[in-house]
Amino acid sequence: MVARILLTNARLFDSVTGSISERTAILINGERIESVTIGETRVPEGAEVIDLQGHTVVPGLIDTHVHYALGGDEAMKLFIANGVTSVRDCGGQLELLKAAQHAIASGEKIGPRLYICGPLLQGSVPALPKPYNSLLAMSANSPDEVPDKIGAVLDAEVDSLKLYYSLPTETGERVIGYAGGEVPVTGHLGRMPASAAARAGINGLEHASISPYADICPTHMRFSEKDGMFDRGWFPRLQQGWIEADLSAPAARDLIKQMADSQVALGTLMAVDWIGWSGREQARRDPDRRYIVPAHIELQRRTAQARGHALEGDWDLFISGVPEPDPVRSRRAIEKQLEFCQRLHETGGLIVGGTDAGGPRLTATGILAAAGIGNALDSDGTGCGFARSHLQGRLLSS
Ligand SMILES: [Zn+2]
Repeated sequence: MVARILLTNARLFDSVTGSISERTAILINGERIESVTIGETRVPEGAEVIDLQGHTVVPGLIDTHVHYALGGDEAMKLFIANGVTSVRDCGGQLELLKAAQHAIASGEKIGPRLYICGPLLQGSVPALPKPYNSLLAMSANSPDEVPDKIGAVLDAEVDSLKLYYSLPTETGERVIGYAGGEVPVTGHLGRMPASAAARAGINGLEHASISPYADICPTHMRFSEKDGMFDRGWFPRLQQGWIEADLSAPAARDLIKQMADSQVALGTLMAVDWIGWSGREQARRDPDRRYIVPAHIELQRRTAQARGHALEGDWDLFISGVPEPDPVRSRRAIEKQLEFCQRLHETGGLIVGGTDAGGPRLTATGILAAAGIGNALDSDGTGCGFARSHLQGRLLSS
């Protein structure tokens, strides 16, 4: 029988009321919370007592955008170590994801509750370089292929579907229609404008910097179907388009209103640009860099080698072959993207938290979410950091 554990002297954050109670005791019995008491409490016979003086307890965190296929089992442990108890995988090979979902649910592996979208649904043009494309994506070459291909993904009981960058509008509309509300559909969009997706009934959009771009950028800055996300000029143009975007123009205002009216959830994923925001020097010195999972480093190494780039300097922080972002332009673009998120929020839109953990050049899994919330809540500002590194060390060495 699993022993009871009594956590004492905790500060407890209640996410429903937004309040914090001091000196709180939480009694855990197996996998259930049996009771929560504020103030004096009696220790039940045989219970293990853990004094949480100086620490804060929060409900399990949810990361709505991760990639198991890139971070593997080690990343799953890191989520747990950082208090992330549920994640949604936003694209990966179906068999791999189903196996991971089963292994975690049965207790065979340690990890957060894993919700899956199945593979990224792209058009006939691969949107990702090797080896990412075969690990993450599936192509539908025309709207006529949707029933077969999407039917098979739905038969595997995925929790959601995800449209990807090179999927044409007509095929995207067919996928949303075919899903018919059976599962929610989200999208990291490129060829299909967010406004068309929202009209077709999409439920979510990933990447505030990318999915709304076609609707909000000046017309001459739009991408054509030939422009790939990993082409040399793509990222600088994306930034310039944001810098020049007028968010009070009718197209931007219409998109924001439409997203708010239909409650299309925006996974901002702003941390993807953490190097652009913090600058190269700060990114280089970031202590959390040592927690980037080995599977992810290995993928970056293979990508760099396949593209004929040397592994020198900070190759683990930068996508090989893609120019390093200009810090001033990066900041200006990100500030405009934040303004888009702010306007959506003020209009009554829905914003959800995700990190793209496992994606290229990202900082360590789970830490982004935990660090922000830990800093906001911890009474002495150090307890959370200590618990994190301690747990991480333990989980990674087990
Ligand atoms: Zn992603």
